[in-house]
Amino acid sequence: MFLLPDYRVRQRDYLLNISRALTSRLDLGEVLRMILQAAASMLSGEIGLIALREGDTFRVRAVIGITAEDAHLFDAILRDLSPTAKGELDLAPTYTQMRKVARKLDFTLRQVVALPMVMAGDMLGILFVFRAYAGTPTDNDYRLLQSFADQAAIAVHNARMYEFANQERQRLAAILDHSADGIMILDADLVVERWNRALSWMTGLPAEQAQGRPHDVVIRWKRRTLGPALSEAIAAGWPGEVDSESHETLYVEGDLERVDGTAISVGITYAPLRRPNGALQNVIANVRDITHFREAEELKSTFISVISHELKTPVALIKGYADTLRREDANWDRTTIQNGLRVIEEEADRLGELIENLLAASKLQAEGMRLELDDVNLETLVRQSIERFQTQTTKHTLRAEFQDDFPIITGDHARLRQVIDNLLSNAIKYSPKGGQITVRGTYDSKWVHIAVSDQGIGLPPDQLTRVFERFHRVESALTSNTQGTGLGLYLAHAVVTAHGGRIWAANNPDGGATFHFVLPRNLGS
Ligand code: ADP
Repeated sequence: MFLLPDYRVRQRDYLLNISRALTSRLDLGEVLRMILQAAASMLSGEIGLIALREGDTFRVRAVIGITAEDAHLFDAILRDLSPTAKGELDLAPTYTQMRKVARKLDFTLRQVVALPMVMAGDMLGILFVFRAYAGTPTDNDYRLLQSFADQAAIAVHNARMYEFANQERQRLAAILDHSADGIMILDADLVVERWNRALSWMTGLPAEQAQGRPHDVVIRWKRRTLGPALSEAIAAGWPGEVDSESHETLYVEGDLERVDGTAISVGITYAPLRRPNGALQNVIANVRDITHFREAEELKSTFISVISHELKTPVALIKGYADTLRREDANWDRTTIQNGLRVIEEEADRLGELIENLLAASKLQAEGMRLELDDVNLETLVRQSIERFQTQTTKHTLRAEFQDDFPIITGDHARLRQVIDNLLSNAIKYSPKGGQITVRGTYDSKWVHIAVSDQGIGLPPDQLTRVFERFHRVESALTSNTQGTGLGLYLAHAVVTAHGGRIWAANNPDGGATFHFVLPRNLGS
């Protein structure tokens, strides 16, 4: 007799328990042990093990009746298995060796029953039972025992699928979390299921507070510039029928309200994810921060308006004077011709300077500031500039006050001259009533300090730092009537910073502004 007499009853109970275990959340080791136990008891076997296939070899994954140490003895045999030249596994010698080891552990053991665990043609492992009886199994016995091995195969397969699905889930979670774009996944009722890290950053709302809440509660538009809100689109029939290819994704652009009340410019693309029957399962939304893009757009339009305004005046003057001077019916006297040509020259210079500044600003943006270093005598530089500017104004008195033995510094001569020229020209431009303009130079062991003071209109306190931004001009009646692009101080700031220095503006107690900058005496030290 091969199997126990009451095997039919037992078999039913065992298989029932095993199939329950398979559908519950027991881990693989436990399910395997349970199957092994059932098979061993059906065979009244003493010890048993299940070895799972790992590539070309097998590894013991579950045992009964032996210690973990003894299990290693079997492991060693199974690990040495090697495929034949044809790539097949010849298991017969292994069985013999295993029986030998089993007999060493318990000399009463006489028979090894080996059942392959096969699933969809794949050999996943082998179930071994060692026993004292040595009977010959009938086909029916084998079929019965094989059902245990098949259950084990299903358990292994399920566990692997589960592991695979789990890994995929983790991989997806990692991708979502590391994406630079904000991503949210909504369920069919538009409740947030997932909210990634980038989106938490953008909105200031952590995932724990966003997940589980309706889309419209967490996505609050301050202003929408493109596309309908998600709920409006859905009311209008989005995402439409399954086969209508068009309008599958929805794009919305505008400013989102962040948790702290500030706004962030974003573009959101919503894509529907459907069930096989076409019903909406999820909406996947990709949220992109377009602040920089917006800023660039705004800068571009500022640029265009500034440039067109600044170009218009000199070009109109040049054209006007040239037309007048060219008139063949007029006979201009020498002074008129000289005056006209002077205006043309001045305006051409202004245009040249404007183009120069624009080039410098765009170059600065593209490649940063590169300095050509030399010895620079700032005092001489300042005095020369003062001389030049003094010829252009009678309303202003310009003077220099330098501490004795003012040091020579290392710097870029041409660029530092630009800085000084810009500060002096601003001091003149923004003190329309005239007055005193003073450039002071002081120094200590490490730094030189230049301060340009005027008695002009001064600066509103909130503008003291903003004037160094690109294209920024203080809005006032005077600035709108004064030529300027808002580039001078931006460039001055870049030059001073590239030298390792600092530039800032302050208002004088008795009116007017002072622009200061400090530079290191020795660059890089
Ligand atoms: P621009 O003079 O071409 O407009 P700048 O970058 O040199 O550009 O200056 C930016 C803005 O800072 C000016 O438009 C003006 O509003 C303000 N500003 C600069 N210098 C002075 C000054 N000395 N007094 C008052 N306001 C000034």
